[in-house]
Amino acid sequence: MISKLPELTTTIFTVMSKMAQEHGAINLSQGFPDFNSDPILISLVERAMREGYNQYAPMPGDLRLRAQIAAKLNRSYGSNYSEETDITITAGATQAIFTVIAATIRKGDEVIVFSPAYDCYEPAVSLFEGVSRQIQLRPPYYSPDWKEVVSCVSSKTKMIIINSPHNPSGMLFSKEDMEELQRISVEHELLVISDEVYEHIIFNGNTHYSAARFPELAERTFITASFGKTFHNTGWKIGYCAAPKALMKEFRKVHQYNVFSVNHPIQKALATYMDDPQTYEGLAAFYQQKRDFFLDLISGSRFKFVPSRGTYFQLLDYSEISSEGDVAFAEWLTKEKGLASIPTSVFNANGEDFQQIRLCFAKKEETLEQAAAILNSI
Ligand code: PMP
Ligand code: GLN
Repeated sequence: MISKLPELTTTIFTVMSKMAQEHGAINLSQGFPDFNSDPILISLVERAMREGYNQYAPMPGDLRLRAQIAAKLNRSYGSNYSEETDITITAGATQAIFTVIAATIRKGDEVIVFSPAYDCYEPAVSLFEGVSRQIQLRPPYYSPDWKEVVSCVSSKTKMIIINSPHNPSGMLFSKEDMEELQRISVEHELLVISDEVYEHIIFNGNTHYSAARFPELAERTFITASFGKTFHNTGWKIGYCAAPKALMKEFRKVHQYNVFSVNHPIQKALATYMDDPQTYEGLAAFYQQKRDFFLDLISGSRFKFVPSRGTYFQLLDYSEISSEGDVAFAEWLTKEKGLASIPTSVFNANGEDFQQIRLCFAKKEETLEQAAAILNSI
């Protein structure tokens, strides 16, 4: 068989988690919590199962859950999403992103992607014979250069993909960034994917500038989100896509034959759980405490860092410790020192290496203490 994706190898998250397991290393590589989801939410799932919600959910998702999401978006961002026509529940943000691309990208369409980019965007674009145009963001702040974006736009440009709070850098798009994005996408009639899976994990009182806050931008944007990040259950693989009716109509045409619908009892449980906004509004303070705890512990180490502004990831610059490439350094750190991380160059289309590794701090304090002891010993 001739491969449709001949260049593609196994995702770094699988590679590093497997390496961590094989070498008994502390796993701060793949992004997931090492503590449990709220027992109340788990009981609600059990209750939904006992109540018999064990057959197919409605194709776009449970209506009450969609109403919770629309209300949350509209309350937080002053938008006007309708649960009937504008929200679809998906098997995580990954499926939402894939479905958007499947529904919109044709052969030769160009898609602007900012590197370092979360690794599921590009393969989906390639699979539908689109062409990714990568724009490199750089340390320490990974801010976009909108002039460079404009110079990348051609008559073939169909879409631009953004992700703020940004994985892996932990940086944020500002209000001005979003206004520039709005101006450019309106002028050039571009579609937008705004990957907002970390919308609630944002530090130091910063604001999340969701695409939903900018009416002309929201009109052309698919927002993708993940409950796994928000409610500490990445293994449940539930998320959603929000987009205006005309875009969502196309999304659902693919969704219905891709998965049709997703886990019903979990949707029922989330619909009830979200009655209390504190379940997600408390997340920023929860993770800021973890970030600060971890960064305090390693403040005397030889690693340099700019504190993460959002997400549950922290980049560490090891350039004063080693001149090795980040893939080799991450492998050494896992195998020789017992701490797994993610080398960030793998998210750069051109492989550019800033000698930075990414660590996930969604962990218990004891895990963070053990990891910090290793980092401090280097
Ligand atoms: N986008 C980004 C930026 C991510 O970090 C992740 C991982 N959670 C996803 C999308 C995929 O989310 P999910 O696990 O819900 O598919
Ligand atoms: N989003 C998670 C991360 O960035 C990983 C998700 C996955 O393993 N596919 O680490």
